[in-house]
Amino acid sequence: MRVSRLTLPVLAVALVAATAPASGGAVESAVEWREVFSPDGTITRAAVPVAAEPRAEAAEVTAEVVPIQRTGDADQRFDLVFVGDGYTSSELGAYHGHVVDKWAELSAVEPFKSYKQYFNVWQVDVVSNESGVDHDPALGSAKDTALDMGFWCQGRDVDTERLLCVNQAKAGQFGALAPGADQIIALGNTAKYGGAGGGVATAAGANAQAGQIAVHELGHSIGGLADEYDYPYDRYAGDEPAEPNATADASGAKWSRYLGQTSPDGGTVGAYEGSRYHRYGLYRPTENSIMRTLGREFNLVGREAMVDAFKTKIPELR
Ligand SMILES: [Zn+2]
Repeated sequence: MRVSRLTLPVLAVALVAATAPASGGAVESAVEWREVFSPDGTITRAAVPVAAEPRAEAAEVTAEVVPIQRTGDADQRFDLVFVGDGYTSSELGAYHGHVVDKWAELSAVEPFKSYKQYFNVWQVDVVSNESGVDHDPALGSAKDTALDMGFWCQGRDVDTERLLCVNQAKAGQFGALAPGADQIIALGNTAKYGGAGGGVATAAGANAQAGQIAVHELGHSIGGLADEYDYPYDRYAGDEPAEPNATADASGAKWSRYLGQTSPDGGTVGAYEGSRYHRYGLYRPTENSIMRTLGREFNLVGREAMVDAFKTKIPELR
C-alpha cells in the first residue's frame, strides 16, 4: 500500500506516530515520519508505514559496553551512545573505527567542539549473525542482523533508497545498556550513504559524510531546535512555534539580540521566510544553517540553544 506523504498532518518531530487515510479513505494506515538526508545536504521528510519497520522487542539483550570517552557521571554529562548493526563478532574492530570516526566528525562542529569534554561517549558492541544491512548492495538482499537495519524502508515504490531504518525498540534496548543514554545513534555496517532521524538516529557507519546526520539530529534532541527547511507544506497558519529558532513573526523579534549579527553559518541573522516544513508564514534566523542543510554550521540562535542545554545538564557549566 502506498501512502502519500503530502496528505499527512504536519508534526514537529521526526518520530511521531500518525494516521493517514489510505487511498480510497476506507482503511487507515499508521505511519511515522523520518527525515531523509541527501548526499548534497538537502533534507526532506518521508512517511514510513509502521508495518515496514520490524517492531518485536528482543526478550533480553546483552552486549559489552565500551567507553570511547568518559568524563564524568552520567547524570552530569550528555551521554551519547552508539549501537551497531550488521557487524559480526570478527568485525567489531571495524565497528570501533566507525564509532571513533563518527564522534570525531561530530565533535569537530561547534558547539560540540568547545564542549566535547562534557560528553560521555559509549559504544555498545552489538553482534550480528551476518555482515551488512538489508537491501545492500541490492534491493532484495536480506541480512540476519541484531537491529534489523535496512535501506528502502519507506517501501519499494518510493524512490528513497537512502532512507536507512532500524528497529527502534531493539536499538533502544541495546542503547540502554550504556549508563544514562541521552541520544542513541545506530550505525549500519555499510558504506552506502544513508541515515534517518528519529528517537534513534541512524547513519551509515562506513560513509564519511553520514556523521553530519548525527550533528543535525543532536540539534533536535539537545537544543530542541526546529528544522529550518520548508518542505513539504505551503503556508503556515498555526500558533507561534515553541522552538527557539522558528517564528511566525516576520520581524524576528524572538531572536532580537542577534539581529544583524554575523552568523557562523554565513550571512547575518534576520528573519528568512520558509522554515519548519512551510514555505510561507514561518521564519528562520539565517539563510542556511545545519538545521536546513547538512554539512553547515549551527546559526547563532541554534548555538545558544545548544549551549543552554549543556548548562542545564552539566553542573559545572552553571
Ligand atoms: Zn531535522
